[in-house]
Amino acid sequence: MRIGIGGIWHETNSFVPEPTGLARFRAYQYFAGADLVDALRGTGTELGGALEAVPRAVPLFFGAALPSGPVRREAFEAMLRDLAVRTRAALPLDGLVLSLHGAMMADGHPDPEAEIVGTLRAIVGPVPIAVTLDYHANPGPALAGAADFLVGYRTYPHSDMAERGAEAAELVLRNPPVAHSLLRLPLLTPPATQEHRAEPMRSILAAADRLRAEPGVWAVSTLPGFAYADCDRLGFAVYVAAEARAAERARALAAEVWSRRAAFTAELSDPDDAVREALRERSKGPGSGSGPVVLVDVADNVGGGAPGDGTAVLHALARQGATDAVAVLWDPAAVAAAHASPGERLELRIGGHSADLMGPPITVRGRVDRRGPVTYARAGAYMRGQQVDMGRVAVVETGFGKAVLTENRVAPFDDDHLRAVGIVPEEAAFLVAKGAIAWKSGFGGYARKAVYVGTPGYCPADLAQLPYRSRPAPMHPLESVGRDDLPFLPFPPLVEDGH
Ligand SMILES: [Zn+2]
Repeated sequence: MRIGIGGIWHETNSFVPEPTGLARFRAYQYFAGADLVDALRGTGTELGGALEAVPRAVPLFFGAALPSGPVRREAFEAMLRDLAVRTRAALPLDGLVLSLHGAMMADGHPDPEAEIVGTLRAIVGPVPIAVTLDYHANPGPALAGAADFLVGYRTYPHSDMAERGAEAAELVLRNPPVAHSLLRLPLLTPPATQEHRAEPMRSILAAADRLRAEPGVWAVSTLPGFAYADCDRLGFAVYVAAEARAAERARALAAEVWSRRAAFTAELSDPDDAVREALRERSKGPGSGSGPVVLVDVADNVGGGAPGDGTAVLHALARQGATDAVAVLWDPAAVAAAHASPGERLELRIGGHSADLMGPPITVRGRVDRRGPVTYARAGAYMRGQQVDMGRVAVVETGFGKAVLTENRVAPFDDDHLRAVGIVPEEAAFLVAKGAIAWKSGFGGYARKAVYVGTPGYCPADLAQLPYRSRPAPMHPLESVGRDDLPFLPFPPLVEDGH
């Protein structure tokens, strides 16, 4: 069987002003043909998993960028054109496995993933197409209609990408006859409430597992979605592909999700309270466990498209007299200044440069360790084997600890980015993680405690702060949702009056 594999992967934060051009994709993941196989075979990625299941798959094109602002029209169109040209040249194909994030927003293209699948469908004809989606996907009916199977991640922090890629490939190979149902609940949830091992997602995923174990059920996804992509597809998505009763099963699963909506709440501390709590935890001494306290800077979540140069936690660390922290900051200008200046010690104003929201910058002085360019392969559970380019790096020994300044944005999906610059993260007193939950795949194994910090940024846990323009309304918890807004739920008594 000739199964084509490829995709375009981007999680778009519509509130980030800087658009994402083709250079951001070329700098992250951009492969075609044999290069795609060389780059992804054996990795813990969706297409790595698909290659395990279909060893002689036909590689097409795959482009991915780190989550960031809206994708430029010409970048999206260039990648889609490349994918289409290579798909046409590979004909005849017996099926497609596509790795699409599912929360992309592209200028001039209102539903990019549906357009990708629709374009390729017109080329390959009525052969099975399976699409892998991130846990943070916002799939719409056009995507579900164009694809034969949707297969969403079941983990957050994400660790099952290769399994989902293999599952998608197996569905294409078997191509069972199914009906599918995609439901969108008017439920907005911030990432900090979506961890798969914690409630309410633990129970929701268990319900999905039970459904998947029923005979004739071939694909089930429960996707909490990405609240920072401002579009009419926002919400919590439930997808079922089954030989019979797909719609009824999806409705029952959606009712299960809806009944747990009140549990999607995040508790955050302001930066000074958070640092005080972290200092108290450290002062408890060795009896209370070892390892760093993680200060989770949720609103400057690099994996959610935020820039990664927010200074709110750093100012609090400095104000509270904390020492031995490690914080990564995206600051290409400071890196350039550090590399251009002579001497062992420097004074720099770092961070807070991308927007006033992320500042003000903080002045640091100390010994500097210049490195780079630094590249490494992820060794942990997130996209194991994926190559990452940090650009040049400057590590400054500041009063509060090590400030790791990077030329490229670096997400805390692993801890290899610290080891790559000679830092042993287990030995830090405090780690500042610019993420919500994803940092757990890197630091979760040895962190003694996590404190979630309410910082300014583009991924606030308080979604009421966001200037939405295109999302549907009403949505829980921002508005009151009545039973008329949930016509597909099988038992209206679950909907209370008011909130
Ligand atoms: Zn995600």
